[in-house]
Amino acid sequence: MSDALLDKLRGLVGKPAGPPFRAWDAVNQAMIRHWCDAVGDTNPIYTDPVEAAASVHGQIVAPPTMLQAWTMKGLVPPPSDGDGAQAELMALLDGAGFTSVVATNCEQEYTRYLHIGDELTAESVIEDVSPEKHTGLGDGHFITTRTDFRDQNGDTVGTMRFRILKFKPPEKQEKKVPRPAPPRNQDNAFFWEGVDRGELLIQRCSACGRLRHPPRPMCPNCQSLDWDTVKSTGRGEVFSFIIPHYPQVPFLDYPYVVAVVALEEGTRLISNVIDIDPHAVEIGMPVEVRFTKVDDELTLPLFAPVKA
Ligand SMILES: [Zn+2]
Repeated sequence: MSDALLDKLRGLVGKPAGPPFRAWDAVNQAMIRHWCDAVGDTNPIYTDPVEAAASVHGQIVAPPTMLQAWTMKGLVPPPSDGDGAQAELMALLDGAGFTSVVATNCEQEYTRYLHIGDELTAESVIEDVSPEKHTGLGDGHFITTRTDFRDQNGDTVGTMRFRILKFKPPEKQEKKVPRPAPPRNQDNAFFWEGVDRGELLIQRCSACGRLRHPPRPMCPNCQSLDWDTVKSTGRGEVFSFIIPHYPQVPFLDYPYVVAVVALEEGTRLISNVIDIDPHAVEIGMPVEVRFTKVDDELTLPLFAPVKA
């Protein structure tokens, strides 16, 4: 940790976070009503003039938790927001690599109820900067900003302490997620065992001789359960293909091609076409099998264009 950095950060404690901000609108019934609708607060002292007049308040009051709402700057803050210790603090932390931010606490104290017509101004100061802390999110500094809310007479009506953690995002792990292996079962074990040996096998009905793929127990032509295999030449052509874009999965490099390959023997199988720009793949393109070692555990029969 750099003590020089902490000294600079702590040098900003007590300074205005930015210029005072005067609320766009006075405390008003419409905003109170919308707030109560949104949070489901049916207390009549906020919206019913008769009930409110009969209450200890003698008039409509604003829900205390609306305090910050009155001085929200909107989605596009005024350009003057770039001034002040807050911007300086953030720039120092960004420069030191603490580039991520998360809000951690908000505490509010209410000095008095707000009435319709009150005009608020919010003034914020940097109240505290913690030494570098180790957290589950990463190493960083907690920054506490105190905002005092004052009315049209300059009297404090409430105070808010807002704490953020400005932290270094953990370095991305580059460990590659392994490509899931196709499931092996009693019906297709011969196919994958063939691939392990560098052979592309096609199931053949022993009764009628029809070839079939993907592997399954019964011949769709004669319903025989007897079968053996023939070894494919591994040559064929692209019958159809797509280039998937979404959703992306972490174990593939994009873009890539998923193709239906028609083998010379007549059966088709689904695979990837590799060793070519995905956008150069064409239907009818001659391809041949490449037994590709994807990782230590997995070999797949992928296809590449036949070299002339
Ligand atoms: Zn058959």
